[in-house]
This record gives sequence, C-alpha cells and structure tokens, in this order.
Amino acid sequence: MTSTYTYDIDATVAQINRLAAAGCDIVRVAVPDKRDTDALPEIIRQSPIPIIADVHFHYQRALEAVKAGVHKIRLNPGNIKDRRQVNEVIRACRDAGIPIRVGVNEGGIVERQDKTVRAAEKNMMSQDYHGSLIAIMLRKLEDYIRIFEANDFYDVVLAAKSVDPTIVIDAYRAISSRFDFPLHLGVTHAGPPETGRIRSIAALGTLLAEGIGDTIRISYAADPIYEVEDGKELLCSLGLRARHEPELIACPTCGRIEVDLLELVGKVRQKLAHIRTPVKVAVMGCVVNGPGEAEGADVAVFAGRGRGVIYVQGQQVRTVTEAEMLDALYDEAVKFAAKVERGEAQLRNAQVQIKPPEPIGPPGSEHEKNKPGGVSLPVVKN
Ligand code: SF4
Repeated sequence: MTSTYTYDIDATVAQINRLAAAGCDIVRVAVPDKRDTDALPEIIRQSPIPIIADVHFHYQRALEAVKAGVHKIRLNPGNIKDRRQVNEVIRACRDAGIPIRVGVNEGGIVERQDKTVRAAEKNMMSQDYHGSLIAIMLRKLEDYIRIFEANDFYDVVLAAKSVDPTIVIDAYRAISSRFDFPLHLGVTHAGPPETGRIRSIAALGTLLAEGIGDTIRISYAADPIYEVEDGKELLCSLGLRARHEPELIACPTCGRIEVDLLELVGKVRQKLAHIRTPVKVAVMGCVVNGPGEAEGADVAVFAGRGRGVIYVQGQQVRTVTEAEMLDALYDEAVKFAAKVERGEAQLRNAQVQIKPPEPIGPPGSEHEKNKPGGVSLPVVKN
C-alpha cells in the first residue's frame, strides 16, 4: 500500500514505480477525500501495475474510484450505514467488471451501533478472546457475503486481519474451509520490519505453505518498499513466485571467519541488484564447511585469510585477494548471467557440486585452521 497522499500525483506515481520495480504486482491507495479520487485517472494512466482504491466510510469515494477506472475496490460494508449506498457501490463494480475486497479487522470487529450485540460480543471475548474473535469474524463475513449475494455479485475477495499471527492463521484456516472466495492475507499493524517481519512471515508463511491465500500484503511501519521486498522473498522461498533476480546465500559467520564477510555480503547484494537473471550466488566465510553449504550455487566465493577462491558452477576459476573479492565475484556473476541469457549455460545445474579447495581435511575437520598461519588457499592461474 502506498504511504503518500494520493492527491499528490507525482509522489504517488513515483512510489508506485519504486514498488513495481521491487516486485509489487498490485498496489492499494487510500482515497479519503474527493481530491484523492480526482487524482486517480492520472495515477492509473501512469501506473505500471493495477490500482486498488481503499475506501472506508464514504461510498461516494468508491463510486468516484470506479468511475476513475480502478481495478479493484477495498470496502467494508460495516463502515457504511445505509445499505442502499452499499448496493449502489456493488452495482457500480458489477457494471465495471471489477472485484471488491471485503475484510474484517480485529481492531474494528466489535459491534459499534447495537449496544446489546456489542455487550454480547464483549462478553464472549472476555471468556475466550481467540476463539470468539474468529467466530465473530466469520459471522460478519457471512453477513457481508449475504449483501453481495443479494446483489448477484460474486467477484469478492475476503480478508480477516489481526495483529496476532496465531489468530490470523486460525481465522484464515476457518475462512478457507467455510467460503469459496479468493483470500487476501495480511497481519495488520505488524510494527517496524525488525519485529513485524517475524509476525508477518510466521502467519503468511504458514498459510501459504498450506495452500491458503491468493494475494498478500505485508504491513510495516516503514517505507513500503520493505513490504514488497519481504513479500516477494517469502513467495520465492515457498516456490510460489518465479525468481527474476539473483538469489544470495551467505554463511552466518562463526569463529572461523577471517575476513569481514558481513560487509562483503551487503556490498554483493547491492552490486547484484540490477541483474535480471536468477543466478544463485554464495558468499561463504571459509573452506571448511562453506563448500558443502554452497552446493548448487552458480557463482560462489570462499573466503580465507586475506584471499578468496571463486567458483562458477563448481569450477574453481580464480583466487583473488580480499580487496579484489567483491569485484571478482560480481564480474563472474555478470559473465555467468550473460551466458545464461545467451543460452550458453543453465541455472542451477543439478549436477554441480563444489569440491573444497585442496589441501584441507574432511569437511569439518578444521585441518587447515589448526595449521600455523590459518587457512591457506591455493593459487589458481587463470
Ligand atoms: Fe563458519 Fe565457515 Fe560455515 Fe561461515 S562457512 S559459518 S565461517 S564454518
């Protein structure tokens, strides 16, 4: 979701372009005011990806957004008191052939208008918060779906968000077994990436691995670029999205490390960012366990004291100084990606196994580490 004021067309389009370049497939924009929906036609014209209008209380914003040509509406019928207004929005979306995403959020789930219902729901939740919340979510979604069905409208996407990943997991499991509509997954108000990442991936990863979910949004209190990067990595890691850019694996470092690997990993990631071939690159801290861990990498570097050995699909191609490692690894990655693009090499050739540079002992023996002078890497003539 964009974090700009939607009426600021230049800022919003600039952010959408950044998100799309990072891998975002579909983006939601808030339209609280008429000036926001007035900006939509131009934003839609310039956007490389479909736009969803996020509508809360004003049904006119939904009608204006549909007229502007948005690709989807997010609307919570519970926030619009007059049923005739909700029906009008549904008819407009049906005529435009666009879906409506309807959701329930933990924060606004308890009935606000009917005091008797509110008291009953609060009482239920005081006894079993987790189970009662999910039961109320299901009941509200059923109520909403009845409204859509009464309008003969079935192009609906459902969502049920909570800040608690365990509630999100159980709610979506229940919804997916009860309803036959696409599901939009999310953990709401997850916090900054440092903590929100764990909440979000725990819930969304679990559900996606079970085959539940059709679209996702990861919500951070941060630049939305992090939401896209993490969402994309989650989908790629689960095999639900094809990778189009390099995959970086790196050793976590340990007491055997003899170079500044963490700084190197950060720089490698930045340098590889422009490559559009999913070459697998490994940055490993030593020759003891690194080779086994980097098996299957297309391009890999194994660092030792002051030097690094570079491999391309299992073939040792260069030994370089620590200062040369970054550029040498990058050069080999670029050359290999170009070969793949020309059809002269295949990614992740299953036959590739990286053999440790000699001489070292059996994997894990730390044979070289124990020698005076530490790990000695062989010099290879190009
Ligand atoms: Fe430690 Fe070497 Fe494994 Fe890195 S590759 S974690 S330095 S053993």
